[in-house]
Amino acid sequence: LRSGIEMLGDMIAEARTIVPFTGAGISTECGIPDFRSPGGLWTRNRPIPFDEFVASQEARDESWRRRFAMESSLAAARPGRGHRALASLYKAGKVPAIVTQNIDNLHQASGFSAEHVVELHGNTTYARCIGCGTRFEIAWVKERFDPKGIAPSCTACGEPVKSATISFGQSMPEEEMRRATELAQHCDLFLAIGSSLVVWPAAGFPVLARNCGARLVIINNEPTDQDDIADLVIRYDIGETLGPFVRN
Ligand code: NAD
Repeated sequence: LRSGIEMLGDMIAEARTIVPFTGAGISTECGIPDFRSPGGLWTRNRPIPFDEFVASQEARDESWRRRFAMESSLAAARPGRGHRALASLYKAGKVPAIVTQNIDNLHQASGFSAEHVVELHGNTTYARCIGCGTRFEIAWVKERFDPKGIAPSCTACGEPVKSATISFGQSMPEEEMRRATELAQHCDLFLAIGSSLVVWPAAGFPVLARNCGARLVIINNEPTDQDDIADLVIRYDIGETLGPFVRN
């Protein structure tokens, strides 16, 4: 019986266009907890939906308090073996762009040019005004948040400043959805890595790629809702699985 990793190697070698699609599981070895595993963020905190963030100063304060509680692990995080393996395939010309649900900037840090990272759920390494979209750096927010713990408002229009991520109840970014759709439709190998595949519409991309004729590989240490439509399921650690594909 050939191992899943060997089969993955053959599929990568045979593919012309590979689109990776990543979730929080690729970053756990970098010290950033995922949402749904035991010890994950949701076992500790209920997520703050967008309408609550908009309506309540308290919710905004709590949201920024949680963001700054993650600051040291985010700032210390370096790309893991999964990130580096995907960056190697990108440098080899096999990966035109990556689609990610992650907000941690680690694909960019591993060598992907920012224009080739399609971030479906935004990026938490900076902030934006929810009214006029003005960008603010996290250090700017921190200076104003400390020591009273009050979330700041936009200097241009007075609306709340939010981490540049997509919360539940917030609309998906249109251009990113369009690009992810196109990538899923035009690849011959789609790799869903470290995602429980329960957050929609993001979880629709593996299905779309499969329906458009791509081979689908799922790499995740737990079963996902889409294992039954995959051509190959590797239910194993991501770093161990992708480590052999790191070049450099
Ligand atoms: P998720 O938490 O729902 O699923 C992560 C999956 O990865 C789980 O099934 C878990 O068992 C698996 N996993 C964890 N570590 C693994 C490892 N080392 N090897 C193999 N599998 C591993 O995450 P999701 O599907 O990405 O959806 C949650 C949402 O959370 C996303 O929208 C994302 O925006 C957000 N989020 C992002 C980060 C990040 O940027 N790193 C962290 C937490 C949450």
